Order: sequence, then structure tokens, then C-alpha cells
Amino acid sequence: MSVIENSNEHAQPRHNWTKSEVQALFELPFNDLMFQAQTVHRQHFNPNEVQVSTLLSIKTGACPEDCKYCSQSSRYKTDLEKERLMEVDKVLEAAQAAKAQGSTRFCMGAAWRNPKARDMPYVLDMVKGVKALGLETCMTLGMLDEDQAAQLGDAGLDYYNHNLDTSEEHYNQIITTRSYQDRLDTLSNVRTAGMKVCSGGILGLGEQAKDRTSMLVQLANLNPQPESVPINKLVKIEGTPLSDVDDLDEFDFIRNIAVARIIMPKSHVRLSAGRNEMNEQMQAMCFLAGANSIFFGCKLLTTQNPETNKDILLFNKLGINTETIANDIDEAQELHAIKTAVVDQENSDVFYNAAT
Ligand code: SF4
Repeated sequence: MSVIENSNEHAQPRHNWTKSEVQALFELPFNDLMFQAQTVHRQHFNPNEVQVSTLLSIKTGACPEDCKYCSQSSRYKTDLEKERLMEVDKVLEAAQAAKAQGSTRFCMGAAWRNPKARDMPYVLDMVKGVKALGLETCMTLGMLDEDQAAQLGDAGLDYYNHNLDTSEEHYNQIITTRSYQDRLDTLSNVRTAGMKVCSGGILGLGEQAKDRTSMLVQLANLNPQPESVPINKLVKIEGTPLSDVDDLDEFDFIRNIAVARIIMPKSHVRLSAGRNEMNEQMQAMCFLAGANSIFFGCKLLTTQNPETNKDILLFNKLGINTETIANDIDEAQELHAIKTAVVDQENSDVFYNAAT
């Protein structure tokens, strides 16, 4: 099947995808699928631009939920060091560093079932402070009720991340402490509060191919579709119930990116967790399949962040530019200066060349 039979027509978001239609996309010969995905991608995005976000954990570990993949759940014995909610000033320092390293969006994540009333004033101050730095803001704090969503929206939060994680059918194998409907309700509250939705899932949770189809259908049929769709590849963590689940085939992962791109043509598809375990060629295939968003670094940033430099080196090899917030000329110049500086140091021993 083809969603681009008439190349003069741009693919538009649809909210009536059926599982059999999406299954048919998955079953296309690989090259045909990649061609369709790249064609749709070019209809709505600059194919050589990737949006860059930075993720900061503002409260780590001791989460009461039982997500079977997660090191932050209090139910599993992992090596993770727990941390209380960060001070607002420390969060703003990290946001400033992220901006200097080229991020346009700053995502703050807390390992909570849901934010408590006592936490909200701090969280709202973080949103306002990061926003004042000229960054887009995103948070992931667990479930939100209508009032909490409204407070965050009023504070200026741009995006709220809440993943579906997997298909509705596979969901109970992964999480039992909140329902699939709870997740959809939070997404609905986020929309009602006027924020943009970031929602995707994790692949490699022991699900079947039909579950991956089902999850993408669920995401695509949200109306409007999520503006941001993170596609994560399970990072197996010692001590969690999914630590020895079978690996997902890498081509299956790339196919998921391509199908997500085709059926959510205007969404940013984010290559998320698991990217550290992908070589440069795999990441390049994901960008070709339509991924156009990544995280720079996953920890509190300092002035030196080799992971970030490695990403910029890959971008340089691929001729990819980082997407800037519209009309932010200063930021574009700053990014250019960073990239130039990195290229100048490319042969230095401190840079790991993943191609060798
Ligand atoms: S709710 Fe989030 S932090 Fe808590 S266990 Fe699940 S994935 Fe981990």
C-alpha cells in the first residue's frame, strides 16, 4: 500500500487508522517503507534538521509505581541513587547549560505516581524560570488531574510527556499500578489545559509485533496527534523484571520509526532511550526513517559533556543541523559556534569516534 500515491498531495494526519492498514505498512519491503517514510518526512520537515532537547531528572528514584522496565521503581533492587526534588536554582543552572550546548527544549522528569500539592509550587517555579531563559519547557511528572494540568499550562509549560508505553493489550504485563485509561485521561487533561502532548512508547518489552502496531494506531488516532512521539528502545536494567527479556531486532525498531513517521506526518518523532546503545549507522537509519528529535545527554549537564559532543560529531558527519526555535537568530549563531568548535577538536583524543 502507499500513502503517497499522489506525490502532489502532502500526507495529512488521520485519526481513523486501522490495525490492518498499519500492519500493511509494517509488512512493506524495507526499502519501500523507508522511501515512503522519507517522502512523507520531506513534506513537512527539513530532512536535515533534528530538534534537540535535554532531559534532567529533577527527582530520582523511590517511585511507588511498578513499571517493569524502570530502575526508579522502589519495588526493584537496582544501583540507582535516589535523590529528592532538586532545588529550583540548580534546575535553572542545568537549563542554562543545556541552552549553551544547543538544546532548544528542556525536559524535567520526576519519578512520581503524580505530583503532590506540596510539590506544585516548586515545579511551577521551575517552569517559569526555564521559560524565562528562552527555552521551550517540557515536564514528565506522572499522572495529572485537571487542576494540576491547568496550573502547569498557566505557568507556561509547553509540553507534557506521558507515554502510553506499549499496547493496551500488553499493558498489564508491564504495569499494574495504573491503567491504560489513566494514561489516556492524563493526556486528555494536558490537551484541555492547552499544552502540547509528548507521548510514545518503549519497544522491546517482550511485546509482539501486533502490540507495536496497536500502540502506534492508538497514538495516531489521538486527535490531535501528539506533537512529539518518543520511540524508546528498552535499556535493560539489572534488577528489574525485564532485565533479560529478548532483544528487539534493530530492523523492527527502524520500521517502527518509519511507520510512526508515515502515520503521524506532522509530529516530531524522537529517537529516545536506547540511543546510547545504537551505533552511528543505526542512528543514521533512524533519521532516514523520519526520526527528527533527540535528547542531548540524560544527566545534569556540566560545561563538558562528551556525550553531547559525540552527537554533534555525528550530526556533522550526516550534515544535520539542530532545529532552532523559530526566528531565534542568536541561538542559531551560538549553535554554529559550538559546532565549529567541535569540528576543530574532532581529531583530539578526548573524542570517541564510534565509527572506528
Ligand atoms: S512511573 Fe515513571 S518513574 Fe515511576 S516506575 Fe514508572 S516509569 Fe519509573
